[in-house]
This record gives sequence, C-alpha cells and structure tokens, in this order.
Amino acid sequence: MHLRTLTLRGFKSFASATTLHFEPGINAVVGPNGSGKSNVVDALSWVMGEQGAKTLRGGNMADVIFAGTSSRPPLGRAEVSLTIDNSDGALPIEYTEVTISRTLFRAGGSEYAINGSSCRLLDVQELLSDTGMGREMHVIVGQGRLDSVLQATPEDRRGFIEEAAGVLKHRRRKDKAVRKLEAMAANVARVTDLTAEIR
Ligand code: ATP
Repeated sequence: MHLRTLTLRGFKSFASATTLHFEPGINAVVGPNGSGKSNVVDALSWVMGEQGAKTLRGGNMADVIFAGTSSRPPLGRAEVSLTIDNSDGALPIEYTEVTISRTLFRAGGSEYAINGSSCRLLDVQELLSDTGMGREMHVIVGQGRLDSVLQATPEDRRGFIEEAAGVLKHRRRKDKAVRKLEAMAANVARVTDLTAEIR
C-alpha cells in the first residue's frame, strides 16, 4: 500500500486544484518558508478524518478553507482527495485503488466519500484503522509533535501502539456494543417493572 496522489481544492493556501503525485518509498516536498509544505501534511491528516482544528494549526475547522488573498476572494469550500494504491490488499476493500475524499462547506456541513460514494467519518476511520493511519494519526508526525510523542505518558504510549496495531478499532466496537447492552438492560428492567405492575 502506498499513497498515489493527493488533490487539494480550496484547502488552506491551495485555492486552485493542485495534485501531488507520490512514488513508493520516500517522497520529499520542498519549498520556501510559507509556501504550503505543512499545509500538504495538514491536508493528509484532514482527509483521513482529523477532527482537531488545533492539530491542523487553525482556530476552528473552517480555517482550512481558502481564506482569500489581496488578488483572490475567499472560497466557500475545501476539498481534499487522497488516492491510495491498494494492490496489496492492505485496506479491507475490494479495490486496487481507493480514493478517500472530504469536503467542508463554509456555510456548514461536510461530506466524506470512498471511491465516489458518500460515507460517514466512521467508514473512513474503519477503512484505515488496521493500517495505523487511523483516527489518532500517529503516522503523521508534524513539526513539534515529536516532543509530545517522546514525552507521552505510558497510557498515551500504549494508545499509539494500539492505534498502529489496529486494536483501537476493536476497542471502539467493544465500547459501542457495551453501550448497546447497557441500553438493552435498561429496557429489560423497564419491561420487567411494567410486567410486575400489570400482574
Ligand atoms: P515553513 O517552511 O515556514 O514551515 P510551510 O511551507 O510549511 O512553511 P505552511 O505553514 O504550509 O508553509 O503554509 C503557510 C501559508 O499558508 C501561510 O502563508 C498562510 O497564510 C497560508 N494559509 C494557511 N491557511 C490558509 C487559508 N485558510 N487560506 C489561505 N491561506 C492560508
């Protein structure tokens, strides 16, 4: 599995559609200060479901939408698409190429899609969760982030390892199942009470 292309449209400083092509192995993005290198990394996190505006170096999520310049008006939406080569079947989906897209509208609302079909954030997270590219994004170590990984508490460190090992997906599913069981137990207790009252 490797990243094939990343397309940004209206994301941060990338007002016009811009596509980066990656090769297997090491790829380098070079450019002068302020030219948008970190914005490319932000776009990668964002399309994979990052929810924290601060992680994306903004105050709120709408800050990822192109805010305009002296020569160009602001845009109403940001869109990022990431195409992953899945010929080795690392992603649990029957396509050799998988494109994940995320769109955010300034007016509110956002959309996710996998290979052009609308989906939920959860679907994107589940798709990526066995690859270590899941929700907590420890595969992306941004500037200054290395310190926080090195200084992490043992609990946080365990979280990194679980994320990379794909355990978090099962923990989330277990939590969801436990919540359902608790709701069911409450329903059963209520029905038992009502039955007792009727008798
Ligand atoms: P450095 O080498 O200094 O770390 P960099 O190449 O990583 O720089 P970035 O931090 O990716 O640069 O890009 C910063 C630029 O992106 C700034 O000029 C900033 O104004 C611009 N920018 C960030 N968000 C937006 C936005 N929503 N709309 C327009 N431009 C934006």
